Amino acid sequence: MEFVSTRDREGKGYSFTKAALKGLAPDRGLFVPKSIPALSSEYTQEKGLGYEAYTILKPFFESDESEGDLLDITRKAFSFPLSMHADGGKDTLELYYGPTCSFKDFGARFLAFLLDSVLKKSGEKKTILVATSGDTGSAVASAFSECENISVKLLFPKDGVSERQKKQLTCWKGTSVSSYEVDGTFDDCQKMVKDAFMDPEYSSSLSSANSINIGRLMAQMVYYFHASFLYEAKYGEKPIVIVPSGNVGNVTAAYYAKEMGAPIRRLIIATNANRSVEDYISSGKFTPRASIRTLANAMDVGNPSNLERLFDLFPTYEVFKQNVKAYYAMDDKIEDTIRRVYDEKGYVICPHTACGEFVRRMWFRDEPTIVVSTAHPAKFDKIVEPLIGRKIAIPESLYGMIKSDSDYKEIGKDYHELFN
Ligand SMILES: *Cc1c(COP(=O)(O)O)cnc(C)c1O
Repeated sequence: MEFVSTRDREGKGYSFTKAALKGLAPDRGLFVPKSIPALSSEYTQEKGLGYEAYTILKPFFESDESEGDLLDITRKAFSFPLSMHADGGKDTLELYYGPTCSFKDFGARFLAFLLDSVLKKSGEKKTILVATSGDTGSAVASAFSECENISVKLLFPKDGVSERQKKQLTCWKGTSVSSYEVDGTFDDCQKMVKDAFMDPEYSSSLSSANSINIGRLMAQMVYYFHASFLYEAKYGEKPIVIVPSGNVGNVTAAYYAKEMGAPIRRLIIATNANRSVEDYISSGKFTPRASIRTLANAMDVGNPSNLERLFDLFPTYEVFKQNVKAYYAMDDKIEDTIRRVYDEKGYVICPHTACGEFVRRMWFRDEPTIVVSTAHPAKFDKIVEPLIGRKIAIPESLYGMIKSDSDYKEIGKDYHELFN
């Protein structure tokens, strides 16, 4: 099995492990599987999520240097549950039972244990640099904090993160994760990361773990198989799966799962007011936009980085339009949906999940559906609690992060300060 660049499908192929280590293809395209295999007959849900993940990912690791370690890696990465919140076929897939309470824990942990496993064998050490304004940073820090051969430097903008987010980004004292508060914006943080990667003094020891890394993306196929098979067995039909999206990595993983044979009738992208995918589908012309701030801030993306993979999968506008549908929810609809779902069902959802739920209620009311719930509502207490008029219980792992001491360094905009 080979992974190739979206910009050169006939070019050099890389193993899964090599592609995950590199992050970005040398021509700056994104790694994609050269072909998508059929689901193996070994697939089973009987032996736990770690084993299930192993049976799904195994064909992608054929003759890969990590093939023999894959089961160990998936067992360590998929060590927490997911849950289907059933509601008569209008079900919700809760993906927030990992250490940092968002679906990003699945991909970040798989990538972390994969990289740690290869580096342990070669005896190399690497440093992961991440610029973050929210969920990604904490998921990456948490995942890599368990790795022996990898340390993490986390950069976040002063005044660019909420109180609770800052706690999650700075609670890593005593681990290999160091946090840096940059006197600048998120863009400044990203520029520092880019500059460090360009500097020959540091570049060979650096690695990235952002959402375009194929290692994070492919691991996210696992819960789409799990949920769609469960749904089909329970209701006797294939679900439409609605995915709250920003960089569209999560939904791209769902498309790969569907291509591989997951029983999904169709996939729907739900966005917030950042509507570049909707606009492309209606106009046939893709225009990247500056991102707009919304209540679902992990989806505030004007130029979705994984769209390049969807264009690779559906290469013409006609084919794209047949396969990709997208609908958006403005902030007032997000609030309204959180309130209604609580009033009607006593069920609490986060602002991102609310985009998906709004799309279901608006466009797919009478269809068999799964909405993907991407984060625990307690992460967005300031938004959700006033709408439902009560406190949300904090999951234990989140509480652990919030109550531990903050430890971080304040730095300026010069990336050299990261290495002092
Ligand atoms: C990252 C994130 C998303 C968006 O996922 P993409 O893969 O970027 O489309 C949605 N919801 C939450 C809570 C997230 O953290």
